[in-house]
Amino acid sequence: MTVLGVIADDFTGATDVASMLVRAGMRTVQVIGVPDGPPVQADAVVVALKSRTTPAHQAVAESLAALRWLQAAGARQFYFKYCSTFDSTPAGNIGPVAEALLEALGADFTIACPAFPENGRTVFRGHLFVGDELLSDSGMRHHPLTPMNDANLLRVLQAQSRGRVGLVRHDTVKQGVPAVQARFACLRAEGVRLAVADAIDNDDLRTLAVACADLPLITAGSGLALGLPAVYEARGWIRPDAQAAALQAVGGAAAVLAGSCSAATRAQVQHWIASGRPALRLDARELAQGRPLAAEALAWARAHLPEAPVLIYATARPEEVQAIQAEFGAERAGALVEACLAAIAQGLIASGVRRLVVAGGETSGAVVQALGVRQLRIGAAIDPGVPWTQVEHRPLLLALKSGNFGSTDFFSKALEQVS
Ligand code: ADP
Repeated sequence: MTVLGVIADDFTGATDVASMLVRAGMRTVQVIGVPDGPPVQADAVVVALKSRTTPAHQAVAESLAALRWLQAAGARQFYFKYCSTFDSTPAGNIGPVAEALLEALGADFTIACPAFPENGRTVFRGHLFVGDELLSDSGMRHHPLTPMNDANLLRVLQAQSRGRVGLVRHDTVKQGVPAVQARFACLRAEGVRLAVADAIDNDDLRTLAVACADLPLITAGSGLALGLPAVYEARGWIRPDAQAAALQAVGGAAAVLAGSCSAATRAQVQHWIASGRPALRLDARELAQGRPLAAEALAWARAHLPEAPVLIYATARPEEVQAIQAEFGAERAGALVEACLAAIAQGLIASGVRRLVVAGGETSGAVVQALGVRQLRIGAAIDPGVPWTQVEHRPLLLALKSGNFGSTDFFSKALEQVS
């Protein structure tokens, strides 16, 4: 019986939260989009949507469809997973989706907690930090699709919500579960529907997870999920499985595709190039001008693949991205690059690639859709938030990396782990 049903607003975010659950022994399956078929059997089922930057009404409709499917699978609790940098626009989609899910579940209150301390994302007094910087001072202010210019999550969330937004402060979290639950009751009585919750370490997240045990819906980054398996085990709902992260070995060639322009991915691309490995840059302007870059990149890749893994990247510096966006529009430029990388992914698989690393949330979504992947088993983590995954019924391993995750040598580290 499925215990936890997760609705993730992008594909890398889905593997991120699934990884967190698997690591604590929950057998977890990720499905891509809302399946037509019958419910999947696992302790946790994660529905990966690509709803972070779609119009709010569309994100709401897809999230509600995912909820209904997870309800049919028997899930006892639901989790709306978004990015640990709270990626959204003034129109949404975190607020509108959270409120629609609450309503559909007949619930009146939930928390919002993007904290993921293992990856440097902490929330204090409602403000989101990325490492030592406020979110608004971090590289996220340059994000191509969801630039984040305000670190005050109460303000960010209130701007996109109909109901009132409140705060569970860190000093309350530190006092433990009863204090947090008392604060929930207080906020509820004041008419607050969404409460931003402070968390600066894993102990805070565990406290929040226990305090939320009876809420029908949790909204959070992946961090809070680390506290849930213990709650379910204590209730006798799951028995942790030591083999939850085991995947089958596959042979074949290996490649990396990068469509993220985030700081961590830029450093990873540079590291790969500096270590003398084959790399090919896709020029977004040439692409927009109609040059057949996918075909050219595939011809280049086929020449190199027999000897070594290749990297193909559109990754560019913020000023380059801004120039392209000014010329062609942010949405069109992003879509063109995504479509090109997705076509390259198809060609690589046809050429025998069986281990593929993809950098970028939206990019991963485009690649996974183009490959027709429906279901992923979640394996061991390469770095916090990024596991290897196995495509169901196909000898294909995918590592879908959120742009800002992973160490500088992530690409080679990932490939070595499954060589
Ligand atoms: P992240 O996980 O870092 O947010 P995403 O893949 O979600 O990465 O988003 C990056 C977006 O930037 C994608 O839509 C991608 O197509 C787009 N993009 C990538 N390279 C360029 C470029 N050189 N110019 C303009 N847009 C780009």
